[in-house]
Amino acid sequence: MSYTIQGALMASDLGYETVDLQIVSDRITAMAPSLSPIGTIINGQNKLLLPGFVNAHTHSPEMWQRGLISPLPLELWLAELYDFIPLEPEQIYLSALHTAVETLLSGGTSVVDHLILIPGREEESIAAAVRAYQEIGIRAFIAPLIQDESLPASIPSGGTEQQHDPYLRSTATTLDLLQDTVEKFHRPEAGISVVIAPTGVQLCSDALLAGCIELSDRHQLCLHMHLLETHAQQRLAQEKYGCSAVTYLKQIGFLGSRTSLAHCVWLDESDIAILAETQSTVVHNPLSNLRLGSGIAPILKYRQAGVNVSFGCDGAASNDSQDLLEAIKIGSTLHNVTDTDYRHWISPREAIAMAALGGAQGLNLADEMGTLTVGKKADLVLYDLTNLSLLPRTDPIGLLVLGRPTRAVHSAWVNGKQVITEGKVATIDTDQLRQALFTHSHWQSQRASQTVQTLERHYREVMGLSV
Ligand SMILES: [Zn+2]
Repeated sequence: MSYTIQGALMASDLGYETVDLQIVSDRITAMAPSLSPIGTIINGQNKLLLPGFVNAHTHSPEMWQRGLISPLPLELWLAELYDFIPLEPEQIYLSALHTAVETLLSGGTSVVDHLILIPGREEESIAAAVRAYQEIGIRAFIAPLIQDESLPASIPSGGTEQQHDPYLRSTATTLDLLQDTVEKFHRPEAGISVVIAPTGVQLCSDALLAGCIELSDRHQLCLHMHLLETHAQQRLAQEKYGCSAVTYLKQIGFLGSRTSLAHCVWLDESDIAILAETQSTVVHNPLSNLRLGSGIAPILKYRQAGVNVSFGCDGAASNDSQDLLEAIKIGSTLHNVTDTDYRHWISPREAIAMAALGGAQGLNLADEMGTLTVGKKADLVLYDLTNLSLLPRTDPIGLLVLGRPTRAVHSAWVNGKQVITEGKVATIDTDQLRQALFTHSHWQSQRASQTVQTLERHYREVMGLSV
């Protein structure tokens, strides 16, 4: 398919300019003030054209528990989450679709799904998410979430003797599963890429991390993990390795330009220097960090050190939505309170670049996407500047980032295929999705998590809270 977008507003060095842009097959093939039209004509008048953003860290199955989990810190929140995790591949399929819809309607064209797997039905879980993402047409990076230690191991011992049950799947079986996943599902040309994604040092053995690095090297795949999201994780890393988690990850060769790291809240100056030196990417998930009380990631310090930063929504049970524009707004303005020097603050244009190009760079795809450049992939979004939430007319990018845009995405293309038309998803029936999500759920509120009850006393003791 070919498209000519006519007369759209695009950011330029001096402000904005009006351009025509052509898409042929999967790429941007021409861009100029005026082009002879080819293919389908799209009226870009009074619309802002931007590269698609990357939702660079989420867990789609959490959608089933959004708005539900008690106010708890990560370690206990995870215990409740896993006590009530979906157990049917059909649920994985529906929540992946839902995640994709919310991402697309808030300016995202790519999603990194750190996918929670149903125990014993791991391959079916992955297949269900792949099917959803292919049907809707978002560019998907499937990162099966793996570990080989059980949840209580993520809480520091504080010098006490702690025994943990073995994890439900062995290290070798998990690595075999990843190898099979790569062979069966890694099809970047079809919009599905597999990412190797151990959950984090707090729940992974040295052997598992070594196996992940080996797989990533062998298949040239991106690496992804949670890193130092909470104070507890920082303390645990010291207990486990006698050094910071970042120093350890550098030593074992986990860090590099293909590596993206979610959260990065509890890093010090020397850790930050290591991320810069290894060209690793930080994925900033501000809403999740606030919701779980994890802290404020030192994003301004990362930027000053030259560390690439992108944005993620994180799973919908710690956010509790998948609205990228909301994450970008909070994730850029939040840091104004951390540094009085306003020259370090993140401007709306910088925030947009972090979400698009920063996201692409974190997936080692900065040459392929993330900017409006002839030759790059046609992953594009048109915003309707006549939408009530973007009026009156001031600075379109300022409005988009600092305002509260609602239903502002008019059209979107992924890999040259139009997936949003006139504000509606063009590839799937969203009414059907709405109905299925309604039918597969019920109203609920308080629920008792057995695992939270088991872990809470030790957590409070070790974290210095009254018991
Ligand atoms: Zn996460």
